[in-house]
Amino acid sequence: MYQKVVEFIRNLYGTDAFIALHEPQFFGNEKEYVNDTIDSTFVSSVGKYVTKFEEMVAEYTGAKYAVATSNGTSALHTALKLVGVDKESEVITQPLTFIATANAISYCGAKPIFVDVDRETLGLSSQKLETFLKENTTINSDGECINKKTKKFIKACLPMHTFGHPCKIDEIVEICDSYNIAVVEDAAESLGSYYKERHTGTFGKVGIFSFNGNKIITTGGGGMIVTDDEALAKRAKHLTTTAKVPHPYEYIHDEIGYNYRLTNLAAALGVAQMENIDIFVQKQRELAKTYEAFFKEMDMEFVTEPKDARSNYWLNAIVLKDRDERDAFLRYTNDRGIMTRPIWRLMNKLEMYKDAQCGDLSNAQWLEDRIVNITSSVIL
Ligand SMILES: *Cc1c(COP(=O)(O)O)cnc(C)c1O
Repeated sequence: MYQKVVEFIRNLYGTDAFIALHEPQFFGNEKEYVNDTIDSTFVSSVGKYVTKFEEMVAEYTGAKYAVATSNGTSALHTALKLVGVDKESEVITQPLTFIATANAISYCGAKPIFVDVDRETLGLSSQKLETFLKENTTINSDGECINKKTKKFIKACLPMHTFGHPCKIDEIVEICDSYNIAVVEDAAESLGSYYKERHTGTFGKVGIFSFNGNKIITTGGGGMIVTDDEALAKRAKHLTTTAKVPHPYEYIHDEIGYNYRLTNLAAALGVAQMENIDIFVQKQRELAKTYEAFFKEMDMEFVTEPKDARSNYWLNAIVLKDRDERDAFLRYTNDRGIMTRPIWRLMNKLEMYKDAQCGDLSNAQWLEDRIVNITSSVIL
């Protein structure tokens, strides 16, 4: 059976060589724009491509404001700071995510709380979130949400749209609103994914995207913060550019800021990639359809977009019968030069987060035992 999968993937990509999980594709104006930054000498933190890239992402996602950053992780760190996450805070997130989600919480000096995901969406479960908040929190006289166990403020909730499949973000926002918890969306993987016809990353107070080399489009390394709140957008720009106060020649910084800006060189790549975002999304979706039909025939479970969602299908995934099957599949495919990867180890099992407070994590555990990502580079 696994042999058929290997043959199918080799056929799709038309090669006997090693096949990576997700490779970038450059077929547009990338070289022209990157060369333009070199010719103009504006390769660093000033230049027209940064602004252009921000405008394109804002327009595409429907967010009012977009602020480019050096990577998705720095965007996450900044986004959490924007909504006031500090060392007295706790942030609810999902245990099934890439490490950057949890680390960004730690960078603020805050503690993560892990609440389960849905099996259907692979993202934070609105139902488990509601149960957790009901059982474990109170609202103080200032309207702040307090964790009964630790007496700390639960300042933010950080759901993630796994592999580009939207979680039930409208319900999550509604629940968090009633507890005065700010929602920051880790949409690092979901540029081009919509939930109820609205772009992911634009439901919460702040959202972030990543343009790492393995994402749906890339700037080599880069990120973006999106928000509809003008004051937050301005503060995002300020924090990510060393908190420098504008002045004709003096160096005045009014708080501890960060050097998190995106270079013009990287943004040039981003502008060229954004020009073709519709093609990237369409091709990812076509690839997913092809896989879906194949795995149906094979009687294997392929992860499809959740209800009410239009996914970018950034990373394709299958669900194996159990952990042994998962491991057997991983060994078989990787031994034969086809890169496949298990879903992430749950955050609460990692050394740094083993003492974190957790809800019931049965769905996350079930998925950790079974999910494998398969080759997902777009085929042009
Ligand atoms: C890729 C990714 C990030 C971080 O992005 P970088 O640009 O690599 O820093 C954050 N969260 C999730 C879920 C990601 O997949």
